[in-house]
Amino acid sequence: SKELGKNTYSIYHESMEADLAQRILIEKHLRTAIQNKEFFLLYQPQINLQSGKVVGVEALIRWNNPILGFVPPDKFIPIAEESNLILRIGEWVAQECIKQLSEWKGTRFDSLHIAMNVSSVQFENPHFLSFVNKLMQNANVHNHLLEIELTERTVMNNVTENIARFNKIRANGFGLSVDDFGTGYSSLSYLKKFPLSVLKIDKSFVDGIPQEEEDISIATAILNLAHSLKMRVVAEGIETKEQLEYLKELNCDFGQGYYISHPLAIIELERWFHTNDCY
Ligand code: C2E
Ligand code: CA
Ligand code: CA
Ligand code: CA
Repeated sequence: SKELGKNTYSIYHESMEADLAQRILIEKHLRTAIQNKEFFLLYQPQINLQSGKVVGVEALIRWNNPILGFVPPDKFIPIAEESNLILRIGEWVAQECIKQLSEWKGTRFDSLHIAMNVSSVQFENPHFLSFVNKLMQNANVHNHLLEIELTERTVMNNVTENIARFNKIRANGFGLSVDDFGTGYSSLSYLKKFPLSVLKIDKSFVDGIPQEEEDISIATAILNLAHSLKMRVVAEGIETKEQLEYLKELNCDFGQGYYISHPLAIIELERWFHTNDCY
């Protein structure tokens, strides 16, 4: 068993080294990804569950590097956050989203919002809001068409500073949503002080609907809480008709997930709007 212990250690050690080497490699290629135009956005439709009509989309970043191939955001975003590269990437994402909103201006898509994921490093940067505001003004797009999506962890990170930031964002007219709600440690007493517009029920709860009683209870509790605080609710990760029907019955406002549509490139998205006749 001494042998085994040693083996276990060396495997662990090697895998840690491999992991570190991979992180360094990813960081290296991330540094040139914007200038080499390796990022693009996909858009996943969000529908009003009661009417079936599309209300907006969530923008999701993709990275295709010639050497590393497709690297999923769950893998590179944390590395970008540690190295502060996320600031530049986040600016690129904001530019793209706002460019898209501006292209939809005056078309049949001009009432659709874009929900944009914003990481905590970016959100806590003092220039973030003025940067986004300026882009919106230059594009002449209404601020309510951009929804800023933060994770529950970001929201609860610096509660006192965040109340001021949130008020400013909402006063500027932007939407403000909390992603992955229910997975972290939301303090309910703070939640009522936050001027949030949307809570997103995490996929892990949607997965258990309709078979798991606990998940139904949690979804119901989130819906009651949100509605009593005048917030609306998006259920994410809807993969079946049963989940969609059940959440609709629970009076959930909006839904998003593979059952409705996968994230799509803009040309596919516009085609999806036409064939689904849902706007
Ligand atoms: P998220 O914000 O929770 O995004 C939802 C993720 O679930 C997306 O993965 C989406 O493609 C996936 N998804 C949507 N519907 C379904 C479904 O029905 N079933 C399943 N299994 N998955 C579904 P994706 O695109 O790989 O993004 C992963 C995470 O990376 C995001 O999680 C978000 O935290 C982060 N991310 C993505 N784009 C950005 C970005 O532009 N900026 C920042 N800061 N983070 C981003
Ligand atoms: Ca999100
Ligand atoms: Ca989420
Ligand atoms: Ca997630």
